[in-house]
Amino acid sequence: MIILKTDRELKLMREANRIIAVILNDIESIINPGATTYELDQWAETHILDMKAKPAFKGYRGFPATLCTSVNNEVVHGIPLKNRKLQDGDIIGIDVGCIYKNFYGDGAWTYPVGDISSDASDLMGTCRDSLYKGIEQAREGNRVSDISNAIDKCVRSKDYEIIRDLTGHGIGRSLHEEPQILNFNCGIKGPKLKANMTLSIEPMITNGSYEVKTLDDNWTVVTVDGSLSAHYEHTVAITENGPEIMTRL
Ligand code: MG
Repeated sequence: MIILKTDRELKLMREANRIIAVILNDIESIINPGATTYELDQWAETHILDMKAKPAFKGYRGFPATLCTSVNNEVVHGIPLKNRKLQDGDIIGIDVGCIYKNFYGDGAWTYPVGDISSDASDLMGTCRDSLYKGIEQAREGNRVSDISNAIDKCVRSKDYEIIRDLTGHGIGRSLHEEPQILNFNCGIKGPKLKANMTLSIEPMITNGSYEVKTLDDNWTVVTVDGSLSAHYEHTVAITENGPEIMTRL
């Protein structure tokens, strides 16, 4: 069942997701060569607490940190580490969740570290474009599969591959609610979209094969062939006037 939110619940979700937007906006200034993923994590935790929210990922199924920090061939769920220093030319995906008055915020962005290759920058741009193409379809009367198919079409036009093992999701009082939002066209019509649904849309793409595996830390998902990966996520409310991106300042 897809849970529709009341206006009061949407208000709380707007605040939860505004906090995510602030974190994803402000963290950019400390993503530099030499910074450790642990330092980014500490910074984010402090700022989430300052904004009267709680980190959502820390403790979630035993995840040890506030941020998922996924560098280069790491797709998602990278664990921040004291000895993981960012290097010039890396790209890093930051995924962050918080809980504000029992409601979840969730968003992700991929950032360049110093000067990156044009291929990396094109991969990131395509992933971002596909996210916004998907969001455009998050409208009353459309189907979940319209979001998936728009992302698929955008990514395929550039010859990148879509990670298939991970998906977007509904969000609310739980981090992951129905519906599951595939990032590719599976050929099946999904459920109809209605106003007051809240969705976290999050394409993950790669410049190599879409095959992924999980490392021995039981969390970090990497591309099997070592290819680069990008990940962007917005949490969106469907309104009578179209999609409202809540994770945007
Ligand atoms: Mg998510």
